[in-house]
Amino acid sequence: MPAHTVLVTGASGYIAGWIVKYLLEEGHTVHATVRDPNRIASVGHLLEMAEDAPGTLRLFRANLLEPGTFDEAMAGCDIVMHTASPFVLDGFTDANEALVRPAVEGTRNVLEAATRCPAVTRVVLTSSVAAVFGDNIEFARSGKAALSDADWNTSSSVDHNPYQYSKVAAEREAWKIAATQSQWDLVTINPGMVYGPSLTPGSQSASIDTLVQMGDGRLRTGVPDLSYGVVDVREVARAHLLAAFTPEAKGRYLTVATDLTMLGIAKILRAKKWGRRYPFPMMQAPKFIVWLFGPLMGPVTRDFISRNVGHGVKFDNRRSRELGLQYRPVEETFIEHFQQVIDDGLLKR
Ligand code: NAP
Repeated sequence: MPAHTVLVTGASGYIAGWIVKYLLEEGHTVHATVRDPNRIASVGHLLEMAEDAPGTLRLFRANLLEPGTFDEAMAGCDIVMHTASPFVLDGFTDANEALVRPAVEGTRNVLEAATRCPAVTRVVLTSSVAAVFGDNIEFARSGKAALSDADWNTSSSVDHNPYQYSKVAAEREAWKIAATQSQWDLVTINPGMVYGPSLTPGSQSASIDTLVQMGDGRLRTGVPDLSYGVVDVREVARAHLLAAFTPEAKGRYLTVATDLTMLGIAKILRAKKWGRRYPFPMMQAPKFIVWLFGPLMGPVTRDFISRNVGHGVKFDNRRSRELGLQYRPVEETFIEHFQQVIDDGLLKR
């Protein structure tokens, strides 16, 4: 395959770390944007991986909220992978400022910069299943066997599921901009909840919280009957490369290995490796208990609990497999990720 020059936004992130690694290993040149290229905690692991790989890494400073900020990094690139977006589920007071504005304006800034750069022929956007549906109850009501990339989240808003809303709003903006030009085409990767080992030293991602809570006893008395789509971070990264380098790739790719409940994750960790060494949850808490006490224990609303707990969800990942993506067993994903949580000192050994 001829070497490409690829812009990766938010290169310091959990998913982007694996994308950059695979691109460098395949000999591509990576223009990696971060908010602070001098912050070694964000970029140290990228610099290290570039030392041993055939590809070339160049770091650039860019902020989603600054128009024009991506132009310098975009110069010379033929592929754009836009992963940067705030991935926070709590700890903010203004959801629009924390999530929606950076996601939507950031997408606009990156895509408009792509149009100003004549070499760009393809943009791969890291979207999410959050752009496909809002709450699990919608799946049951849809009467479908599985959600697919033909579905759209129409229920989220800045007040209800603001992260999900930021993702669907950003993806819609991307398709709108894509339709105004013919220089590049857009392909989106829509992953479920991402797990698996992190290359970033802090190994920070929202998904890690669930694993820490599984192991520290906070969920010992029971977990909500909450199902979600899960996928290994390495598959999500591979999907980006397939989307970028397969000429016939087109549209949206739901990237989910399988659906799993929180109890299902606990069962994997207990049965496959750690047994009783950690106080993994053994059962599901009754929904009315979750409804009553859930909002006191974490950043969930009763509306979210009503619309999600006890409602299963299924995903159709056929198109991603047709693209060439192979999903590893999720047992491997959770065992490796939980081991990293222990090795990083987030749980006692
Ligand atoms: P992450 O580790 O938090 O990475 C997000 C990146 O976005 C960070 O590296 C951050 O870069 C960048 N960013 C945030 N605000 C920014 C701003 N104002 N300007 C420039 N950069 C900004 O999260 P991730 O899990 O890898 O997520 C990457 C993408 O995948 C996101 O679009 C997320 O919505 C999507 N996604 C994630 C999951 C999941 O379960 N993890 C599932 C589906 C979709 P700095 O280091 O410069 O701050």
